[in-house]
Amino acid sequence: MIVLKSEAEIQKIRAAGKLAAEVGEMLKQRIAAGVTTADLDRWADAMIRDAGGYPSFKGYRGFPASICTSVNEVVVHGIPGPRVIREGDIVSVDLGARLMGYHGDTAFTVAVGEVPEEVRLLMEVTQRALERGIAQAVPGHRVSDISHAVEAEVAPHGFGIVRDFVGHAVGRSLHEEPQVPNYGEPGQGPRLRRGMVLAIEPMINLGTESVRVLKDGWTVVTLDGKPSVHFEHTVAVDDPPRRLTVPGDGDG
Ligand code: MG
Repeated sequence: MIVLKSEAEIQKIRAAGKLAAEVGEMLKQRIAAGVTTADLDRWADAMIRDAGGYPSFKGYRGFPASICTSVNEVVVHGIPGPRVIREGDIVSVDLGARLMGYHGDTAFTVAVGEVPEEVRLLMEVTQRALERGIAQAVPGHRVSDISHAVEAEVAPHGFGIVRDFVGHAVGRSLHEEPQVPNYGEPGQGPRLRRGMVLAIEPMINLGTESVRVLKDGWTVVTLDGKPSVHFEHTVAVDDPPRRLTVPGDGDG
């Protein structure tokens, strides 16, 4: 079932999304060689709670931390812990904040110091793919128009588009219908309407699209051990689309 949101509800998602985005900006300033992923989790958790929010991922289906920290070959759902971030790593952070009963969901990848040119390109292409996907979040289009736009940006580079995990609608629940894959033919799936709020989130691998889950039951890694990049915004379907996971008073 697709839950349409009123403008008042979208403003609550916007407030949650703003908090999530501002936590993300704080983390981007602090991610550096020598910091542990547990440090990132602690800082994010404190900032979300200080703002009166709740970290959306904490306890979600039993997830043990407040954010996901996915380093290098970890695609998504990395559990923060003692791992020390090193020069040359890429660090993906996925984080959600719940405020006034509504979630905002966002993710980004940053490079720590110098990384290979192909990894830089992977980051740029994933970010561009997200932008192209967002541009399709317009009333009258269909869900797979977003999917196809993401794929169209990525495919020419031959990078692996993760298929086992997809974007989703967001609202009172962190994951609502419909799913938003990052691949597919255009013109398929539910028609987009005002009131739909979607988390669009390409997860793109340098090598194979195939992934596996580690024994902890959470950590998703690339099958070939090559790096993976993740960018995500929560977006209200509108013309133009409104991104809700931005800091300050922009968009939304
Ligand atoms: Mg998400």
